[in-house]
Amino acid sequence: MSDTVHLSSPDIGPLEESYLVAALRSGWVAPVGPDLLAFERAVAERVGTGGAVAVNSGTAALHLALLGVGVGPGDVVIVPTLTFIATANAVRYIGARPVFVDCDPRTGNVDVDVVDELVRRLRSRGERVGAIIPVDMFGSCADYTRLTPVCAEAGIPLVEDAAEALGASHRGRPAGSFGRVGALSFNGNKIMTTSGGGMLVSDDTALLARARHLATQAREPTPHYEHRETGYNYRLSNLLAALGRAQLVRLDGMIARRRQLRDQYAKVFAPVPGVELVGAEDADSNCWLTVITVDEEQCGWRAADLAAHLATRSIETRPVWNPMHRQPVFAGAESLLTGAADRLFDHGLALPSGSALTEPQVGQVFGAIDDFLARRAVVGAA
Ligand SMILES: *Cc1c(COP(=O)(O)O)cnc(C)c1O
Repeated sequence: MSDTVHLSSPDIGPLEESYLVAALRSGWVAPVGPDLLAFERAVAERVGTGGAVAVNSGTAALHLALLGVGVGPGDVVIVPTLTFIATANAVRYIGARPVFVDCDPRTGNVDVDVVDELVRRLRSRGERVGAIIPVDMFGSCADYTRLTPVCAEAGIPLVEDAAEALGASHRGRPAGSFGRVGALSFNGNKIMTTSGGGMLVSDDTALLARARHLATQAREPTPHYEHRETGYNYRLSNLLAALGRAQLVRLDGMIARRRQLRDQYAKVFAPVPGVELVGAEDADSNCWLTVITVDEEQCGWRAADLAAHLATRSIETRPVWNPMHRQPVFAGAESLLTGAADRLFDHGLALPSGSALTEPQVGQVFGAIDDFLARRAVVGAA
């Protein structure tokens, strides 16, 4: 790999190698096998759900989750405008229609008051709302204490997009367990990875059985090939499940490392007026990405200035998700906005947060930030 310090690189070592080699030698080089079943059991146990179905991406997990709760063509699905495109794409795969809601400016998670207002409006128009998909943004759970009753009262199934949040919790309950079904991602940049992969987690055994069926081309259990409906080729490889089992063993350590980085960022930016950590109050985040917001009026520089400075030191940063209501592919989609997601996009910056960062790389990042802040302080004083 290059000398560039990346935002969130895979954290892979000898344990992963040994699990992967053992799986290869077992002969189960297919999207079926003992590692796949063991990985599902281990993740379900971690999330505290009755079961799980491993698939080849988080996007596939979201697609099957929406089918599982009965979303159909023409339904409305409530989606946060601040998210990665996969959440909204899964809605489109079904021919359903995403309606976007704005976020809480302090956490980036759905603004429950806006959800409440949107649910009222949609119902008064007689729309069928097939589901709501809260996203646990940057590894922090949405406010389920307030959101769950709003959905329950309106009879809207909750599908939790916990792609970024494995290992996080809200009031003692693990991320992934809040909806009728949750979706996890094991993409290369996530808190743990199978290089690419995802999982549905749920207590609903019928929903999971149907997801498993659809994920294997909806093949009937007959000796000949028989299919009564259209399925998908979504199952995870047994080899990648082995990689996932090793990563899960190390998950708590990787979270601790990311938390350490977040604490260090908090300390560096604490004396800088106008710089805030998104979701800073959440002690139960998995700290997947540390994101700051920068108020130029208060500190005299913009997020883009810091990004440009860090880029000259080969340090990667990233703007916050570009909200869905601004995406050309969703032009014309309905949304209920407060401006919070727009402001996070305009003023936010995601900083290197990966657990694989070496000590010299951490030194490189904080040295560069110190230099930037020192120079700005001098300019500001002059
Ligand atoms: C990563 C991510 C996904 C999609 O996961 P893939 O495994 O890349 O398909 C979905 N939703 C959110 C919020 C994500 O961050």
